[in-house]
Amino acid sequence: MFAHKIRLKLDKPTSDIIDKRMNVCRLIDNLFIGEMFRRVGLRNQSKTWQNGIALKHLGRKKKEGNLLLSEASKKYACNIGYSYLLNGFGNKEFAHSWHLQHIAKTIVGLRGQNIVGNFKKWLIDHKGNPKKGKPRFNRFGDCRTVYGSLATSKKTSGKIILFNKDNGQIIWGGRGVDKISLDCIIDPGDKNTQLALNSTIKRVGITKENNKYYGILICDTDPLVKGKYSPKTNNIVSFDIGIKDIAIVTSDGKTYKLPLLEGLKDSARELNILARTIERRRRMANPQNYNENGTIKRGIRLTWNKTNNYLSALKKYKNLAYKQQQTRKNLHNNLIHWMMGLGNTFHFEKIDYRTWAKGLNKTQRRNMGLFSPGLFISLLKYNVLKYGLKIDEFSTYSTACSKTCICGEKHNKKDDIYICPVCGLAIDRDIKSAYLGLWVEEDKINHQRAKDNYDKFKERLNNFRTER
Ligand SMILES: [Zn+2]
Repeated sequence: MFAHKIRLKLDKPTSDIIDKRMNVCRLIDNLFIGEMFRRVGLRNQSKTWQNGIALKHLGRKKKEGNLLLSEASKKYACNIGYSYLLNGFGNKEFAHSWHLQHIAKTIVGLRGQNIVGNFKKWLIDHKGNPKKGKPRFNRFGDCRTVYGSLATSKKTSGKIILFNKDNGQIIWGGRGVDKISLDCIIDPGDKNTQLALNSTIKRVGITKENNKYYGILICDTDPLVKGKYSPKTNNIVSFDIGIKDIAIVTSDGKTYKLPLLEGLKDSARELNILARTIERRRRMANPQNYNENGTIKRGIRLTWNKTNNYLSALKKYKNLAYKQQQTRKNLHNNLIHWMMGLGNTFHFEKIDYRTWAKGLNKTQRRNMGLFSPGLFISLLKYNVLKYGLKIDEFSTYSTACSKTCICGEKHNKKDDIYICPVCGLAIDRDIKSAYLGLWVEEDKINHQRAKDNYDKFKERLNNFRTER
């Protein structure tokens, strides 16, 4: 199975219709979530359910308890999915009370069956306990993706969104809904498009991203596999990662000290200002929720008015933070792929971030959040799994690369340049750390090999490169 996205070519009236229909889908979503929420509430209050829970807590009568619980779920129809509600309308009472018969004839056909995902998740994760958060209702503009029903499903035989392979159009309509046809922009040279067109299409969806419209084709074939990465060399790449930069030494003698996240625009100031704006706007709209000294009231249930100004600032903040996170990821990935060209085995110290953060001052701690060395390590591990590379992550306690001299002597100063009181060696601390990492075998530094090879590496270690 794979999903293929195709850009749609639309005129203004058609895209307006899509927007309106998506909003209708949002309303239906909320309707169903609300109804399911109500039912779970009724179920949780029912005697059967509470008896079941009491029996379960007894320990021995777990089976009987579970039976009661499932009986209660059945009675209030909490476990049934959205599609069941759509097709059979569960019970008549529900259909009547929500005027769903009317909706069914006119607009329900717009939507397939993939809604209520977030509701189901809530039901499973928290077992429907309202104290642990509520299912999320969609706000205006929140619904951006609509899927048609599964092609194989017998219950939902009336497919609402279809793809016509002959003329490359997506048709959205049927079941009493006007049909609109949407032209896809098909690139005949694109391999993925050709694969999608040649396979059975199980499901079709429409999505909106950044004011552009796309069709999604869910195909019944395996995706094209990109050529596997084959390392050019069998070198060991040892690195020592700091808060702001990374020192790299390879087993063929290449030595680098590079800044992490080169070229990242720091939006921390902007984010700070926005955070303050959000807090101020919240305070302005809810003076009743604050004490005289400016703290939020405790011990009583508070209701918050969310003004449009507040919500727009919140949206801005979220967008900016997300953007920065994505740039960070891209820059880290960039560096990792470059490092994969240097060799195929990575040596590095396991970092315990909690103890690490203890020894830092305020600026350094801020930088750690900004440059996110932890994200770098997790991305590296992901790539190692993906491309079948080798990895040796050794313990900081047993090796102590940053404290140990190449001669084997340990001493505990934290200057940038490491000067050994015994042998008189003077070298950049991070570079030395990375160099020692090369010679780690089974969680211990092999000092004999480190010493023997030092002459070969000496010149490059002292004149390391600061650019790739
Ligand atoms: Zn020494």
